[in-house]
Parts: sequence; C-alpha cells; structure tokens
Amino acid sequence: MFEVNVAARSIAPFAELVGHERVVALEREAAELRELLGARAIFNVNSTAAGGGVAEMLRPQLRYARGRGILTRWLVIEGPAELFRITKRLHNALHDVPGDGSPLGPEQARIYERAMRENAVALDALVRDGDIVICHDPQTAGLVPHLLDRGALVVWRCHIGHEKSGVEVDRGWSFLRKYVENVPVAVFSRGAYAPDWLSETRTSVLKPTIDPFSAKNQPMTDDAMRAILCEAGLIDGAGGCGAPIFTRDDGSVGRVDSRAEVMCMGPAPAWNMPLVVQVSRWDRMKDPVGVLEGFAYHVASAAHRRAQLVLAGPQMRAVADDPEGPQVFGEVERVWRELPKALRQSILLAQLPMDDEEENAAIVNALQRHATVVIQKSLREGFGLTVTEAMWKSRPVVASAVGGIQDQIDDGVDGVLVHDPRDMQAFGDAICGVLDDPARAKRLGAAAHRRVLDGSLSITSLEQWAALVRGMLVRPSDAV
Ligand code: UDP
Repeated sequence: MFEVNVAARSIAPFAELVGHERVVALEREAAELRELLGARAIFNVNSTAAGGGVAEMLRPQLRYARGRGILTRWLVIEGPAELFRITKRLHNALHDVPGDGSPLGPEQARIYERAMRENAVALDALVRDGDIVICHDPQTAGLVPHLLDRGALVVWRCHIGHEKSGVEVDRGWSFLRKYVENVPVAVFSRGAYAPDWLSETRTSVLKPTIDPFSAKNQPMTDDAMRAILCEAGLIDGAGGCGAPIFTRDDGSVGRVDSRAEVMCMGPAPAWNMPLVVQVSRWDRMKDPVGVLEGFAYHVASAAHRRAQLVLAGPQMRAVADDPEGPQVFGEVERVWRELPKALRQSILLAQLPMDDEEENAAIVNALQRHATVVIQKSLREGFGLTVTEAMWKSRPVVASAVGGIQDQIDDGVDGVLVHDPRDMQAFGDAICGVLDDPARAKRLGAAAHRRVLDGSLSITSLEQWAALVRGMLVRPSDAV
C-alpha cells in the first residue's frame, strides 16, 4: 500500500463560477466539520493513483478538503497480478459482462482475501479508532469487515454497476456481498446500481463531478492548445506561436515535453482538420474496436467528408488495476491494420504519456478542447467522466445511452445519445449530424457547458461529502 500526496488548494476560485455565497457556506460547513472531526482523519482507499475516473475524482476532493484544514489522506492498495485479474473480473461482472469468463469461486476469494489481509496490515499502522475510511470499488471492498472490527467508520463507495440483475451481475454481487453487506454507508453513482439486499437507509447516491481548475479542465488558450498537441505529436506542423504550458495543481507552471506513442499513416492531422475524439482506458466496455469500425465505415467512408478520428488512451501498462489494457490495445491495433488503407489513414491511435499525470491531463484537456466532436461509445459505463469533461469544454458529445451517461445528456439538448450502443450506423449518423451542422454543434456545446456548471463541478461533491461525513459523526451509532 502506498500513499498519494495531493497539494492543498483553496475553494475561493469557485466563487467566480458558482457565486460567493456558496463558497462561504461551504467554508462554514468545513469549519463545523473540522470541529466535529477533532483529531480524526478521513482516509480514501482505492486501487490506482492514475488513469481512471476514481483517481480523477479523488484528487480534487483531497485537494480542496485539505485546503479547508480537513485531515484527509489517500492510500492505494497493492497486490499480485492475480488480485487485479480477479478484481477486473469483478468489475466486468458488475457491468454484467463476463470479461475473461474466469471463475469467481472459493479459490478466487482466498486470493482476494489474502491480498486484503496484507493491505490491512499497512492500513492498521495508519488508521485509528474513529477515523473515517472510504473504500472505493470492488478492489477494496474486502477491507470493509476488518476496518469495522477495528472501530473505523466505514463508507463503501462503488462507482460502477448495472441497472438490472443478470447472471454476471449476480455472480459479482455474490462474491462481494459478505464484505459489504454490513457497511454502514454505501455510496453509488446511480440509485439503480445498489443491490437490493443493501439497506436503502444506508445507501446514498452521489453523482461524480470534475474539477474546473485542474490541468484536465482548466481554461486553455488556442495557442497553448495547439502547442501542446504539436508537442505531444497529435497534430502536425509547427506549434503556432504559443508555448505548451499549463498550470499545475500547486500553482506552478507545467510544460508538456513528452510525446504520445502515435500510430497513424503519414503525418498527424493538420491543425485545421476536424477531429472526432474518444479518450478512454483501453477497456472493451469503452468499445474501442466499435469506435474504429463505426468511424471508418459510417463517417470516414463518405467521400466528401473531411474529418479524422483520434482514439486516445493511457500508455498501455500505466493503469495499475487494469490488466486487460495491453490485450485490448492489441485488438484495436490489429483491427486498425486490417482496415482498407483509404479508411486507415483517417484514424490515429494514441497512447498518451503517463509518467507525469498532470502533463497527461493537459494533453487530454487540449485534445478534448480541440475536438470538433467528442464521442464516448461505451457499451457499459459507471458514470463517464470523459463526457462531463467534454461538456464542460463546450464540446458537442455523441455518446451511448448507457449507465451514468444517461444522467448527463438530455438527448438533442446538450448532447446526442445513441440508444443502441452496438448500432454502428446510428453512431455514424449521429456523428455526421453534428459534424455537418456547425450551428447545432455550437448550441449543443453551449448547453452542455451550462449543465456541468449547474451541478457537476467538484464544489457539489464537497458539499455532499461534507453532509455525509457530518451525518456519520453526529449519528455514530448508525455508522459502526
Ligand atoms: N483519462 C486520462 N488519460 C487517458 C485516458 C483517460 O486522464 O489517457 C481520464 C479521463 O480524462 C477521465 C478518466 O480517465 O477523467 C476516465 O473516467 P471515466 O469515468 O470516463 O471512465 P473510467 O476509466 O473510470 O471507467
């Protein structure tokens, strides 16, 4: 287990976005919470420090809570490859897909529990009686019983799930049930994700949010965007007159120096080439092969249309808890190589550098902002932060009507939903409908930005978590 350090930051800048009164109210709430907490700490425990929605959300939560004097820490579990193969299998199961189809029986439970015991030893050295510990996702669910025995106040925060029960969903929950059924507070991204055996009174629903000031979402001039994309090798030509710089979380200046590993025929797209962009982990549920084929056969094949696809994700081996990444990237690469040359040349595959997360975030920011259309063709989706990120950047988004994406987009108003995520024709038509109508694209993008401003910025999460933790502290009998 290791700790992730996050610099403290003030919530004051939120005033310009959501008004001074809300910031003052949150400061007051934080002061009361500090008082209630006394010497207690709030721990978050998850399974990766980078490269996915959970890490993306934890960073601002810690940053701003620390900025208000709340003692909060972030720990990441470690374990053998076998652990993460099992937890990926569980992750897939809760989305009702079989993944590698391997068993989730007593042998897997033994391996899982052994890894949890090892991580619990490290936790024991840090957690004190009465501390609050928020365990994220199936990867850390097995820590819950131990933490409860130790007298911690425990929350299980599950970011994934499926609306209906099914063979795989049931298999996943049967594995996890004994670890989480007695947790005092369980938090889901959608109400429908909670299994019915978890008491409703102890279940909360919190929608994920984004940090508008992070390297991922901060405003960026066209010059900086162009320079960053050139530096990363994602567009061709000189970087214009800007510098490839961004602001780091600690307020210092960062510069993009690394190149993405790019696969394309010939040079990368020119600056003025319309781009259709999907940014995701290399995960089958993000349907990267479907994105490639849908774009090739239903968008790029129209002779008159000038647009290229950028399908981007993290460097293959960079996401600690996602062992399927290299295999999925291999499948995408093979399909790309087998495309007819005329279609292949309109598609660029990019593995974005991950050595410096904020540099990676600045590249994603520039790519999303530069996109003419952002797509998220997921087959399943817990929530889909990439959708929120693109909407914040006033991009028209075309996305599958699955999971949490349905809570984010009002079809035709602030984005476009494709109702059957496997319908390539509908997907291609939806993209073309936006590419071919710039006025509509602009309207969708403007409405999308307003929607995120209204309820999907991290100040909302801070308010909600403050209320939740306060509830646990003032009614501790409910929480142990
Ligand atoms: N992401 C990133 N770099 C990449 C690919 C993805 O920073 O190369 C980020 C992306 O911007 C988003 C998160 O990873 O913030 C993915 O969250 P989402 O909820 O969309 O999906 P998850 O990966 O959690 O299933």
